[in-house]
Amino acid sequence: MKRVPQILTSLGILLLVGGWWVGYRGDMAMAKKIERKSVEVRLLDESPNPNAGSGKNAPGFVVPAVERSDKEWANRLTMEQLRIGRAHGTERAFCGVFHDTKKNGVYFCAGCGLPLFKSDHKFDSGTGWPSFFQPFAEENIGETTDNSYGMSRTEVHCVRCGTHLGHVFPDGPKPSGLRYCINSAVLNFQESGPEPKTATLLLGAGCFWGVQAAFDELPGVTKTEVGYAGGWTKNPTYKEVCGDGTGHAEVVKVEYDPSKVSTEKVLEYFFKIHDPTTLNRQGPDVGDQYRSAIYFTRPEQESGARRVMGRLTEAKKFPRPIVTQVDLAGPYTPAEDYHQKYHAKHGGGCALPR
Ligand SMILES: [Zn+2]
Repeated sequence: MKRVPQILTSLGILLLVGGWWVGYRGDMAMAKKIERKSVEVRLLDESPNPNAGSGKNAPGFVVPAVERSDKEWANRLTMEQLRIGRAHGTERAFCGVFHDTKKNGVYFCAGCGLPLFKSDHKFDSGTGWPSFFQPFAEENIGETTDNSYGMSRTEVHCVRCGTHLGHVFPDGPKPSGLRYCINSAVLNFQESGPEPKTATLLLGAGCFWGVQAAFDELPGVTKTEVGYAGGWTKNPTYKEVCGDGTGHAEVVKVEYDPSKVSTEKVLEYFFKIHDPTTLNRQGPDVGDQYRSAIYFTRPEQESGARRVMGRLTEAKKFPRPIVTQVDLAGPYTPAEDYHQKYHAKHGGGCALPR
């Protein structure tokens, strides 16, 4: 008789602990989700030379965390990048492209364009992997405890998109005593130097016929082309993009001469010619292919974009919040010939942006 209440008590405790654990895990998952919604990071300033020091003088921004589906990742990363960056793999020592690089510049995330390391902090560790004694900015690097292979190591990843970078060990040189051991495959490199002769942005602002015509009139723009970007299918056609389900936006590839028109001037013009506050819609054109989007190809273009958006928001230029997507450019596919310079050739078509 006495055993039954004992069993019930044990069962009760078990249920209580179990319930707490499920709740705790649920809270943790929730906290993680909320945490990933936006992150505070440091971006590369729009100057030809990377910021000096630890990156503390780089401007700070609160930006949305980058979350992509598996098919979106698969469309923009190589098999090697997927294996390392998304599946926590490691490249072979002395095989990565940057293990011996001594050029001056900034290493940024291949997944989202966030600046992660600088050549000033790179050193030859003799390990065969690119090694740095400190990151571009502490804010940009996330850490987790990695207990795989019977070791306890500190894993490091891009704080914005979660791409696995490598590990950090406490055996680095002074002043930090740290060694960030990083896989080349998940890094892109931008060499320091004078401003490039041309820079490129992929800009989505509704039907690309009118947007191209508008950018052809902006002084300093050297070339425009219409195409598709930002989705998860390879080499999309107009018909597929119209049909929804490719994730691609109609974009104009805008090439400009930064000595004649700055990135911020190009983007101020971009915000003048469309409504950046309507999600997946531009006037009568409805669908995610008409979304407002800025796809940057150089990391300093992102800080320019976020500065312009901040100024417009502060000045209350729009009655509603700006919903423009800002992201590192992924694969771009030129549109079919009959879409190129459509307005110049035919006039009419979709309405010219306001
Ligand atoms: Zn990233």
